[in-house]
Amino acid sequence: MHRPLRLTIDFSAIQSNWRWLQERAGVPAGAAVKADAYGLGARAAVDALLAAGCRTFFVSTWAEADELGALPADASLIVLHGVGPDDVEAALRLSARPCLNSAEQVARWKEIAPGRECDVMVDTGMNRLGLRPSEIGLLNGLSIDTLHSHLACADEDDPLNAMQLERFRAVVSSVPARRYAFANSAGICLGRDYSFDLVRPGLSLYGGIPRPEAEDNVRQVARLEAQVVQRRIIPAGESCGYGATFIADEDTEAAIVNIGYADGYLRGFSSRGSAFAGEFALPVLGRVSMDLVALGCDAAADLREGDWVEIDFDLPSASRQSGLSQYELLTTLGSRFERRWV
Ligand SMILES: *Cc1c(COP(=O)(O)O)cnc(C)c1O
Repeated sequence: MHRPLRLTIDFSAIQSNWRWLQERAGVPAGAAVKADAYGLGARAAVDALLAAGCRTFFVSTWAEADELGALPADASLIVLHGVGPDDVEAALRLSARPCLNSAEQVARWKEIAPGRECDVMVDTGMNRLGLRPSEIGLLNGLSIDTLHSHLACADEDDPLNAMQLERFRAVVSSVPARRYAFANSAGICLGRDYSFDLVRPGLSLYGGIPRPEAEDNVRQVARLEAQVVQRRIIPAGESCGYGATFIADEDTEAAIVNIGYADGYLRGFSSRGSAFAGEFALPVLGRVSMDLVALGCDAAADLREGDWVEIDFDLPSASRQSGLSQYELLTTLGSRFERRWV
């Protein structure tokens, strides 16, 4: 069935982003593929990353681990939310291993899988998931593959970064594990002090630029195109779209295009987003609707019904336009796109 909007995902850009992150870190890089690889398709992303040499993958839940399917014997999959009271059956059946986050989870794992390898998250200041440094005595007797902590503000120059680093170093020197891991995409940009033995990028694999260091190195992965349903004129003095927030000063040519907030092109783009028809930039006029958006196309004289426009989805620029984070831009993309891996 023909679909009037498409999402093109660049396989080689994901691989090239992964290689850049690994080189920058100077240690092996894993990959966060939770939330369906930030909305782009976890299985396809894993296959691309396996081909590039990635061997460690992270999801949030056991359901995500199950859906991902089999990995090669030398690759590992970690479930970041650990093993909760309802996860016991899945944790024993699947080959993924949990990243234990609390005293309860540590006790549960010791009871249901004594001696079996796990990862552990230690909280060094984010207060989201992980054992407090004061609780690390509970880890005695576990067989820890990778001991993790996670940065709260790596995308900013915040004093918490150095404080977390110092606390993590103290944990590393007192808890035995095969490897230690600390940095997400932004943490990798902070420098090699943050690398330890393994890094856990997510966002930048998929084209996100969390800090200036990644600019010019991380390539755009996802491209959005939508088809023109109708070209029309908005007469001078009339409005366009819900709420009549755009009013034409003069007769204005508009292309009404097949994408809207139900596709993840959220209302933050209203009167602020843009698209391209060849070399012409077309501004969003008025509010984004559920399934449609109006683009001013005075500049693109030949644009007509059935033509495709490319939505400006360069993540830093789309984030500035919409007020959404680069993470939200990717993870809210809808299910109506024709998804093409190239
Ligand atoms: C999601 C996640 C990552 C990846 O973070 P990005 O900012 O997307 O690079 C790394 N570590 C943990 C614990 C995560 O939850």
